[in-house]
Amino acid sequence: MLKNNGTEMQIHGIAASPGICIGKAYLVGREGVDVVEKYFVKRENLKEEIKRFKNAVKKAKDELNKIIEQTPKDFSQHAHILETHMVLFKDKMLYGRTIETIENEQVNAEWALKTVVSNVKAMFSDMTDSYLRTRAADIIHVSDSIMRNLVGAETESIASIGKQVILVATDLSPAETSQIQLEKVMGFVTDRGGKASHTGIIARSLEIPAVLGLENVTRIIKNDDIIIVDGTAGVVIINPTDQALIQFEERKERYEAHKAVISRESHLPAETLDGIRLQVMGNIEFPEEVVAVMAYGGDGIGLYRTEFQYLSHSGFPSEDELFDKYKDVVDVITPRPVTIRTLDVDGDKAVSYASDADEANPVLGLRGIRYCLQKPDIFKTQLRAILRASAFGHVRILLPMISCHEEILEAKKILNEAADSLENEGIDYDGNIEVGIMIEVPSAAILADIMAKSVDFFSIGTNDLIQFSLAVDRVNRQVAHLYQPLHPAVIRIVKHIADVARDSGINVFMCGEMAGDPMNLPVLLGLGIKKLSMNPQSIPAAKKMIRSLSINEARFFITEVLKETSTKGVMNLVQNTYGSILSDKIFNEG
Ligand code: PEP
Ligand code: MG
Repeated sequence: MLKNNGTEMQIHGIAASPGICIGKAYLVGREGVDVVEKYFVKRENLKEEIKRFKNAVKKAKDELNKIIEQTPKDFSQHAHILETHMVLFKDKMLYGRTIETIENEQVNAEWALKTVVSNVKAMFSDMTDSYLRTRAADIIHVSDSIMRNLVGAETESIASIGKQVILVATDLSPAETSQIQLEKVMGFVTDRGGKASHTGIIARSLEIPAVLGLENVTRIIKNDDIIIVDGTAGVVIINPTDQALIQFEERKERYEAHKAVISRESHLPAETLDGIRLQVMGNIEFPEEVVAVMAYGGDGIGLYRTEFQYLSHSGFPSEDELFDKYKDVVDVITPRPVTIRTLDVDGDKAVSYASDADEANPVLGLRGIRYCLQKPDIFKTQLRAILRASAFGHVRILLPMISCHEEILEAKKILNEAADSLENEGIDYDGNIEVGIMIEVPSAAILADIMAKSVDFFSIGTNDLIQFSLAVDRVNRQVAHLYQPLHPAVIRIVKHIADVARDSGINVFMCGEMAGDPMNLPVLLGLGIKKLSMNPQSIPAAKKMIRSLSINEARFFITEVLKETSTKGVMNLVQNTYGSILSDKIFNEG
């Protein structure tokens, strides 16, 4: 049994992958990578210096190639992340700029690389979109591996760890994470990273607990310290007391029993007690996540976010590249449906890190459909790729950030042009493809009756809808307590959207995080929302909750909810009415 030998300390980070593990810390070093000296290189030696840099890139690529080849079968679904890193080695931002810096500033390759990466970091850290910010991590991982080769530092081989440990690292690159042997690595904690980082995604797919973004955990934890990682709560306990060890051992056992129940039940249908079948689908960002949606018993993909391919690329992705990824998803999920959302980023920043387009409020700026309508060629390329994929299964198109009716008309015009061009080329697509819009801007919710005339379905994006309706930044910790899905105003807005959809005879989905919390489900069912999409891990608990509810009862319940004047009032009502169901351990151990 592990023994406490010091003073207990708790630190909080980002809960990136659920579960609990208890064990000894193993620090993965970055020696030689962070401390780099600057020196000047004589003009006549610059060619040699550039050659040294190119050799380091080549060596780093060879190493990564070897890792890709040796990637165990379990992990091959994530090989694309490593392949993305292969592309980044030759990225103009990284490769081209470093060579330019060596030449222009006559400095050593290490310093040039460090300068270029610092600029990339600074640029990304200004972005409010956490998704984009975390993508900068890919560039940093790639540059670290080049730097290691430049400075001749030893590469830590995670694959050769000989005992059971919990990894503690500044950051783990996808290449490093892919070498994890499940029988040796119980979990990991890092200074950097976030939920949407590749490392977080990989941890979830390996189903090992991980807490990321702990800022300075590598300075606090020492090798062989006993640590508890609670990846569900995002907490790391260093040198736990004996009492904490016992408590977490028990929680770990309960969590594992809970996971077993979940996997046994995840394939049961989401059918209410009064026999109404609901659709519970998964949200994905990477084609590979489709496997998790299936494993968790999802009824399809309710939201396929398509930004990643644009960011991981040094230029705009080609129609064929997009089509290949969309088709990969369609092939796996068919006959279930997949809703592909068109690009929802501030495109200039996504595709060109060098862009100096500066927006004071990018979340309210040239993003989503606004960006696509300004760049019809890029939009059309994506639409053609989606249409081509639609020939192979049940595909829907979803337009993000719609704030006025004209945007739908304009987008549909471009969609028709894309369809006509395919027609002329004799390329197959689904001529009856459904086109829907995200309802995530209050103006779209208020004009839902007008919007409904031009679309086949609504998908309520509560992440943004709550942010914009309550004027609460969804990524600002200072106001996180005001971000309330069960706020009476949010409930009324959702009711309005659902009522309009019903009266207009169109489908309404909900794909924001609100849909994935079992506590919200009695309210959503009462409002008439019967098609939900959520992160894949939330699917089993949501289905289980739905199986415990009756639509008739929920309809009666909602009339009481609508009388409440505060979030607290609504939450108390939910607790008082459904507390006995919500106290089931399946909803509390996850
Ligand atoms: C939303 O806004 O609710 C949504 C699902 O989209 P995203 O989280 O990608 O903004
Ligand atoms: Mg959104």
